[in-house]
Amino acid sequence: MSNAPVFQNTYTALPAHFYHRQGAEHVPQPELIAVNNELARFLNLDSDWLQSPAGLDMLSGRAFPDSADPIATVYAGFQFGSWNPQLGDGRALLIGEVIAQNQQRYDIQLKGSGRTPYSRGGDGKSPLGPVVREYILSEAMHALGVPTTRALAAVTTGEPVYREEALPGAILTRVASSHIRVGTVQFFASRKDTDGLRALCDHVIERHYPDCRDSDTPIQALLRGIIERQAKLIAQWQGLGFIHGVMNTDNMLLCGETIDYGPCAFMEAFDPATVFSSIDHGGRYAYGNQPHIGHWNLAGLAQALLPLLHDDEDEAVKIAQAEVNRYPDVHVQAYQNILARKFGLGDYLDEDDALATDFFDLLKQERADFTLAFRRLAEHAAGTDTVKTLWDFTPAFSDWLERWQQRTDDSQQSEAERADTMLASNPLFIPRNHRVEEAIRAANQGDFAPFHRLNALLQKPFADNIENLDYARPAQPDEAVSQTFCGT
Ligand code: AMP
Ligand code: MG
Repeated sequence: MSNAPVFQNTYTALPAHFYHRQGAEHVPQPELIAVNNELARFLNLDSDWLQSPAGLDMLSGRAFPDSADPIATVYAGFQFGSWNPQLGDGRALLIGEVIAQNQQRYDIQLKGSGRTPYSRGGDGKSPLGPVVREYILSEAMHALGVPTTRALAAVTTGEPVYREEALPGAILTRVASSHIRVGTVQFFASRKDTDGLRALCDHVIERHYPDCRDSDTPIQALLRGIIERQAKLIAQWQGLGFIHGVMNTDNMLLCGETIDYGPCAFMEAFDPATVFSSIDHGGRYAYGNQPHIGHWNLAGLAQALLPLLHDDEDEAVKIAQAEVNRYPDVHVQAYQNILARKFGLGDYLDEDDALATDFFDLLKQERADFTLAFRRLAEHAAGTDTVKTLWDFTPAFSDWLERWQQRTDDSQQSEAERADTMLASNPLFIPRNHRVEEAIRAANQGDFAPFHRLNALLQKPFADNIENLDYARPAQPDEAVSQTFCGT
């Protein structure tokens, strides 16, 4: 006996101009690529039902359980610095919400399910490639311990999607704590819809920041909470060499989860100027610029919240400024905590700045692979040598390694504790771009084995999985992926 999901729909309880109700759409021949059983269990969803004909109908947007109330939500956003007053779910559909085993509420959303009033010139569909990419990347990020939207399922639609060429169509079922974005706040603010803004903030507080209810200044507390989560999130990306690639304000969630795996990629050879996105000509969203862009986006959020921060405009600006000014400290603190774990320092001391900076300078100079260099350092601490055949310290690192040894000898941590922390903070496996491309290429030919293999392997990114060491290897020159593209 398998059970259909029972959805709740708190977003449709918000004012009608927050969303558009959107019915099912017929796709010719849906076929299941994957159901994420572990995530289904966590969400109290029945995997057997998801894999049944009725489940496939839902995952492909053909028909929904009675409790679903599918909608496309509206938002706006700054895209590459330019204001776009009207965006929205142009190729996504929020089916409803479920309560998971942690008692938290999660959105279940289809991505690539067809046109909505917010599609503008787009077809509302998604080719298979971006669906495979998002599934792999978002699940890998989760396994790496990063707050992120997740992938519950992927299906092909049996229908071609036309880009430069005809590609197989697909739909991803995405899960998020909510899909409410900085750009959602900006949508209501830009229309001077203060009632809408207030209703949205009440909803966000209820759902993601319940502690703010007890504050004398709940909106200020909300702003502070969002800034803290984003500052910490971006620090986590940096610690993994992750480049989001399209940090527009419509791609920044108020719940603090990573969203939009369009042009993202993991850096291999360390260089803060690294950019992959084909449309990021100015390097606005380069690896090293991400903390700065986060600050800029959050200043935009604060500006949008001004009408709710204080009745007096000057006072409101002062409050907003004070909260936004906290960002650099929160971010640096989070980043230092991550570095302390990656370098095995115990507590991060002021003088560790020089140790870290010199390491990064050496990585850049030696064109060292970011992930392997840190993993090698962790192995060095643990006295193991799995990655040694893939990457090892060059002579240029000798002085630095001596300094590191000295510093760690002086720390309070035991050697065993240090090794454990470092091995659990420096992954062996990340979704390498050429492996993701390989999985996409095979999927386009109807072969999902590389997708399943890569996805399974990336569920244990810190494991000393020596049989699969080739997946830890950086791209050879002829495999290197130099550019990524938005999924559109
Ligand atoms: P993104 O670049 O993915 O952040 O998307 C920016 C905006 O374009 C969002 O409002 C999307 O809903 C919309 N969009 C992207 N791709 C499509 C598509 N194929 N059809 C309709 N709308 C799209
Ligand atoms: Mg987006």
